[in-house]
Order: sequence, then C-alpha cells, then structure tokens
Amino acid sequence: MPNTKAYAAQAATTPLAPFSFDRRTPGDHDVQIEILYCGVCHSDIHQVRDEWGGSIYPMVPGHEIVGRVTAVGSHVKKFAVGDLAGVGCFVDSCRTCANCQEGLEQYCDEGMVGTYNGRERVTNAPTYGGYSTQIVVDENYTLKISDKLPLEGVAPLLCAGITTYSPLRYVGVRKGHKVGVLGLGGLGHMAVKFAASFGAEVTMLSSSPSKEADAKKLGAHHFALTSDPATMNGLQNHFDFILNTVSAQHDYSTYLNLLKTNGTMIVVGVPPTPSAVPAFNLIFKRRSIIGSLIGGIKETQEMLDYCAEHHIVSDVEVIPVQEVNEAYERMIKGDVRYRFVIDIASLK
Ligand code: NAP
Ligand code: ZN
Ligand code: ZN
Repeated sequence: MPNTKAYAAQAATTPLAPFSFDRRTPGDHDVQIEILYCGVCHSDIHQVRDEWGGSIYPMVPGHEIVGRVTAVGSHVKKFAVGDLAGVGCFVDSCRTCANCQEGLEQYCDEGMVGTYNGRERVTNAPTYGGYSTQIVVDENYTLKISDKLPLEGVAPLLCAGITTYSPLRYVGVRKGHKVGVLGLGGLGHMAVKFAASFGAEVTMLSSSPSKEADAKKLGAHHFALTSDPATMNGLQNHFDFILNTVSAQHDYSTYLNLLKTNGTMIVVGVPPTPSAVPAFNLIFKRRSIIGSLIGGIKETQEMLDYCAEHHIVSDVEVIPVQEVNEAYERMIKGDVRYRFVIDIASLK
C-alpha cells in the first residue's frame, strides 16, 4: 500500500495542513501515478469549507492532476510505466446507466465518485485528491497527456478546461456568435480562450477593472466592467450566450438582460446560496438558463487533444503546497491570475 504525503483539511474551519495516508495497492485495472502538479479550483474551497454541505474529513482536495505513471495493473492497456497521465474530477461511476454508456459519466444515475470528498463504490472508503504525492485510479478514468505542452499549464485543463469546453461545444459556439464570459478566474480565463478559439466574438464581463489588459491578452475582443451602469446598459440584448463562472452570490437577472432573443446563460459557477430567477427576464426574450457539470472522460480527452493541437494551456501561478491557504484567501478576493497550481515536489 503506497504511503502518500498530502495536505488535508481536518474540519471546515481549520487551514489545510500536512497529512499522510495509504493509497490502495493498484488492482488489475489501475494505474498508479506520481503526481507532478495539481491545480487549485474554487470548488476545493467550497468543499474544504463545507459551503455545499456533506463534506467528508479529513479532506485532501485537488482534481486537476497531472503526473507520471509509476505502476500499472496486469490488465491495463492504455498506459505504461513512464507515461504522462491526468486525473480530473471523478475516478469512477456505475459504468452501466444510460449516461455512463453515452460517455456522460459526470451525470451517472448512481452518482460519479469524486476524486476527493467522495466514497469508493465497493469499499465505501473516502477518496483523497491531488494535493498529494501519488494517486491510484482505474485506467478508464485516467486521461492521456501530451508531452508537447508545459505540464503545470495542463493541470487546470482537467477541471477548468473541460468545464468550459464542454458547454461551449454543447451549445455549438462558433463564428458569428457573441459570447460573454462572466468572471475572470480559473474557469473564466479558459472560457475566453476556448470561445475565441471556436471563432466567437468574446466579451469579458468582470468586476475587476485591473483585469482588462489580461482579458484582451487571453483572447477577449471586448472588456466590460460589470459595476459600470452605462457599460451594462449598452450591452442589453447583446449576447447569444453568457458563460457564468462566478463563485459568489450575485444577481442572475442583471446578466439575463444582456442576452438577445433566444439567448442562453450557461451556469457553471456554484455559489453556496441559491439565486432567484425572475420569470420576466426569461419570458420577454424567450431566454433560457442551462447548467453544466465538468465533462465526460471521452470529451475530456477530446479537449486535451484539442489543447495540444492548438497550444492552449492555462495561465498559472505555481506555488509550493505550503502556500495553499494563502492562495485560497487570494482566490476569494478574485486575486488569481488565473489558476494557482501546486508544484507537488514541495510535498516530498
Ligand atoms: P475563481 O478562479 O475563484 O474565479 C471566480 C471569479 O468570479 C473571480 O475571479 C471573479 O472574477 C468572479 N467573482 C468572485 N466573486 C465575485 C462576486 N462577489 N461578484 C462578482 N464576481 C465575482 O473560481 P473558479 O475556480 O473559476 O470557479 C468558479 C466557480 O465554478 C466556483 O463556484 C466553482 O465551484 C465552480 N465550478 C463548477 C464546475 C462545474 O462543473 N460546473 C467545475 C469547476 C468549478 P472577476 O474578478 O472577473 O469579477
Ligand atoms: Zn474544479
Ligand atoms: Zn452510471
């Protein structure tokens, strides 16, 4: 049983601190991965602090994992020792329901098994994530990683990347569409890159005036400060799609009004408290709101391959694990450019 060093939260109110535990011995279908980098997602903060309820402690967060394979089970076909590998937000699902069969494992009828803050299907043992030196995962839930891109910039693709790629593909964003991306953080900056790459005219909708120059560098054609009433007024009935990545409580109706007739707001941000949606903002322009949760394994691989082909990576600030609590505080203030990534060498 490989002993693993990690950082864990022992409770919702205590900072992350050193922790160690044993991973399972790799089974016939498992790959064992030495973790090199792990991204820091705002969902880590929500779950560490039990903002969504039901958190399991101790909790080792982290679901944007890249590393190198150190062992494979006897039936593993996709991976060999020494290969690069990635793990995203889930490590198992029922594999038989209609969603799993369709490659939509994230919507598994029995519930996907989260990479952390979940429970293994057979043993009910808690799952521990990527703020750790190694992980053991079934090869069917493990992704192939190209050696063409910098690995620290690839790690955030496993959640921030797929969470924005998947809905933009689902609604068919392309040239001719006007897309607004609300919130410029980890998800937002990937959404700008993908929407621009798919040919759309992209507007960054941000509460932070200091992010304007970066938004343009990331590929946004326009920048709109959401606190400026004149700017917001000028954007009424403007967008085909708004991808809403905001992590904190906000008023949906303000942004619904920016959608043109038949426009769609795609919600991916998960504020801890629910938002009310006034019917008037929907009915007068036949607008809709849809939600989207990460992406399935097949689409995640497609996204990783797309990024390798188009040289798309996340803009990252690499930190040692010892700085993760400070990184959380900065993210809550919207002060991240644009993803913190933990260099797991700092744990060894
Ligand atoms: P993040 O890096 O912290 O970025 C969130 C951004 O939202 C901030 O940079 C800020 O952008 C904006 N924001 C924050 N507080 C705000 C406020 N009070 N009012 C207006 N804007 C505010 O977070 P992330 O990692 O991208 O995650 C974003 C959300 O998506 C989280 O709730 C996370 O749990 C969720 N998520 C969902 C999925 C899914 O599958 N649906 C997957 C991953 C994450 P500006 O400074 O530009 O305003
Ligand atoms: Zn995430
Ligand atoms: Zn299923």
